[in-house]
Amino acid sequence: MSINLESSVAYLKGVGPKRAELLQSELGVQTCFDLIQHLPFRYEDRSIFYKISDISAESSALQFKGKILKKTLVGAKKGSRLVAVFNDGDKELELVWFKGAKWILNQIPLKVDVIIYGRPTVFAGKWNIAHPEVERADAFEKRRGGGLHPVYSSTEKLSARGLNSPGLARLIRSAWAEIYSDIDETLPDNLLAELKMPTRRKAFEQVHFPRTPSEADKALKRLKFEELLYLQLVLLKQKKATTVDLPGVRFEKVGEKFNEFFEKHLPFELTGAQKIVIKEIRVDVNTGRHMNRLLQGDVGSGKTIVALMTSLLAIDNGFQACIMAPTEILARQHAEGISDLLREMDVRVEIITGSTKKSDRKPILEGLADGSVDLIIGTHALIEPTVVFKNLGFVVIDEQHRFGVAQRSKLWAKARLAPHVLVMTATPIPRTLAMTAYGDLDISVLDELPPGRKEIITAHRTDAGRLSVFAFVEKQISQGRQVYFVYPLIEESATIDHKDLMDGYESISRRFPLPKFRIGIVHGRMKPADKEIEMKRFVSGESQILVATTVIEVGVNVPNATLMVIESAERFGLSQMHQLRGRVGRGGDQSYCVLMTKDEFGKEARRRLETMCRTNDGFEIAEVDMEIRGPGDIMGTQQSGLPDLRMADIQKDKDLMITARYIAKRVLDVDAELERDEHSSLRNNLDRMLKDRPNWSQIS
Ligand code: ADP
Ligand code: MG
Repeated sequence: MSINLESSVAYLKGVGPKRAELLQSELGVQTCFDLIQHLPFRYEDRSIFYKISDISAESSALQFKGKILKKTLVGAKKGSRLVAVFNDGDKELELVWFKGAKWILNQIPLKVDVIIYGRPTVFAGKWNIAHPEVERADAFEKRRGGGLHPVYSSTEKLSARGLNSPGLARLIRSAWAEIYSDIDETLPDNLLAELKMPTRRKAFEQVHFPRTPSEADKALKRLKFEELLYLQLVLLKQKKATTVDLPGVRFEKVGEKFNEFFEKHLPFELTGAQKIVIKEIRVDVNTGRHMNRLLQGDVGSGKTIVALMTSLLAIDNGFQACIMAPTEILARQHAEGISDLLREMDVRVEIITGSTKKSDRKPILEGLADGSVDLIIGTHALIEPTVVFKNLGFVVIDEQHRFGVAQRSKLWAKARLAPHVLVMTATPIPRTLAMTAYGDLDISVLDELPPGRKEIITAHRTDAGRLSVFAFVEKQISQGRQVYFVYPLIEESATIDHKDLMDGYESISRRFPLPKFRIGIVHGRMKPADKEIEMKRFVSGESQILVATTVIEVGVNVPNATLMVIESAERFGLSQMHQLRGRVGRGGDQSYCVLMTKDEFGKEARRRLETMCRTNDGFEIAEVDMEIRGPGDIMGTQQSGLPDLRMADIQKDKDLMITARYIAKRVLDVDAELERDEHSSLRNNLDRMLKDRPNWSQIS
C-alpha cells in the first residue's frame, strides 16, 4: 500500500502496532506527517573521527570507526544487559546497553565496519560507552552521514524499543522518502521571497537532514514562522469577531466633564504614556465597534486616572461607567480616591460591594436603573442579577488576573450593546505571551512612571543579617516612615506558614515594643472586620509596622510606607515579589525592599532574587519569570489554555512571533476574508491548521 502524510506510522518499516502506540502516547505522533513535525532540538557535528587513544578525561560525545568483534547478553535475568567489544584497529573499548538489550542485540552487525558515537566514561578502570549509537559504515557513507546529525527528543519507553534519537532519525528518514513529494506549500510565493525563506518541502528536508548549521537554522525558522503565522491569523480573525464585527456604543464627543476634569481637577500633568493610552482609547470607543482592550502598566504607573478619564468620556456621552476591582479593599480605595478627585464635579459616584447593607444598596440600585448613578465602583457584587443599569457603556476591570473571561461577559449582558471593556493589569506579561493568550484584546501599555518616582532599592539578606535589617527598620520608623513585613502563605503548608507568621510577629514585637512602636497584623484567618480595622490603623499611620501574609499584595496604597521586608523570599515567585514591592515607593520618599532568606536555596530562587535586586521594571521581570516558569504557569490556572504549538515556542521564538503578527495583520488588513488569489494557500490551509490544532479556536 502506498504511504502518505496521513498514513499511520504503524505502516512504516520497523514500526508496527506496538511502537506506533508508543509513538502516539509518548510523543503524540500518529501519522507520518506528525512524525515529520517532530523536529530536532539540536545537531551534532559528525564530521570528525577519533581514535580510542584520543579519549581524555573530559571528553564529550565522540565518534569512532572500527569493528564490533563480540556481543553478549549478560546479567542476572539473562538479557538484562548487552556488552559488546569494539576495536578501532588499534585499541579496544567496551560498549554497554542496559535498556532494550535484546532488541539491540539483533541490530548490531559483527565484524563489519561500523561508526559508533557516544560519550566515553570510565568503568572499572576501563573506557566504556553506554548506549552508543551504532551504524554500519557503508550505510553511514551512503546517506552522507558525516555531517550534521539531528538530535530528537525521545523518552525512556521509546528508547527501550529502539526509538532513541538515532532510532527516530532512521524512522524519519524512511518516512521522508515515502512522503516528501506530498508536502505542499502553505505560504504565498511572494511572502517566501520577501522573507527569504525556503519552500516548505525544502524546509522539512533541511531541518531533518541539513548540510550546514545555517541551513538547519533557516529551515527551522521557516517552519516555526508558518505555525505562528497561522496562529496569528486565527487570533486576529477571532479578535475581529469580538471587536470589529461586534457593534459598540459610540462616544462621539469629548465633553464637558472630561474637559472640566482635565482643566481644573487633574492634580498632576499626565505622563506621556498616559496621554497616548487615553488617546488610543478615545479613538477606539468612537468607531462604532466594540472595544476590548488590555491595559498593562506596572504598579504605580497610574492606571486609575486612565480608568477615570475614560469613564468621564462615557458619562459625557450619556452612558454609565463601572469600575470593578477584585477585592473589597481595592474597591473602597478606588471609590475614595475617585470621589475625592471628583468632589467638585457634578458626577454621581457610588460603591457596591458584598458588604454593602441592604438599606444602602437600595437607592444605589435604583440610581443605576434610572441612570442617575454615573459611575459605579465595586467588586464581584456588581455581577449579581439585581444590578441593572439604565445605559452601561463602559466597563473597567482592574487587576485582570483574578477575573475570568466568563465574568467579563456577564457584565456585557447588562447592556443592550456590549459596553466597551478596559481590562487593567499590574502584572505585566511579556508582549508575545499577551499576543497569544489575550489574542482577542488590543493592548495598551503604560511604560512610564510618573515623574519624581525614585527606584526602589532592593537588597538580599540572610538571617545572619537580621539584626542590621531590624536596625534599618528602626531608622525608617524614626524618620516617620512605615514598614511592611510579609510572610509567605502557601495552601499546602498553611499551618506551618501560619506558625512562621506568628513567630515572626512575636520576634518583631519583642524588638519593637510598645508603647514606642505599634504593630498591626493581618492574615487570612482573621475575621474580615478585624482585618479591616488593622488595615485602617496602618493606613492612618497609627501603626508603624504591618505584619502580613500576601493579602496585601494587590493595590493597597500607603504612600508613607517606605520599607518592604519579604520574609522567606526564596519561596516567592517573581511576579508576586514584584507586586509586593510595589506597595512601597508610592510617595516621594526613597523606598526600600529587603528580601530575607535562609542561607541556602535553589538555583531558580537565586535567579529570582538577583532579578529583583537588579531591576524595578515589571516587563523585564515578566520576561525572566516566563523564562523560569514557562508561559503556561505564568498564565495560571484561571486562564484558558495557551495555544498548542508543535514547532514554535511562545517563549523562545519571540521575534518570529512579532513578525508573524505583523504579517498576519498586514494580510488581513487588505483582505479580511482571504479572498484574493495570492492568499488562496493561506485560506485553504487555515481550516486544515485548525483541524490539526483544535484548541486554537478556544483561546481567549
Ligand atoms: P496603578 O497603575 O498601580 O493603579 P495608580 O493609578 O494607583 O497606579 O497611581 C499611583 C499613584 O500615582 C497615585 O497616587 C496617583 O495619584 C499617582 N499618579 C498617577 N498618574 C500620575 C502622574 N501623571 N503624575 C503624578 N502622579 C501620578
Ligand atoms: Mg491600581
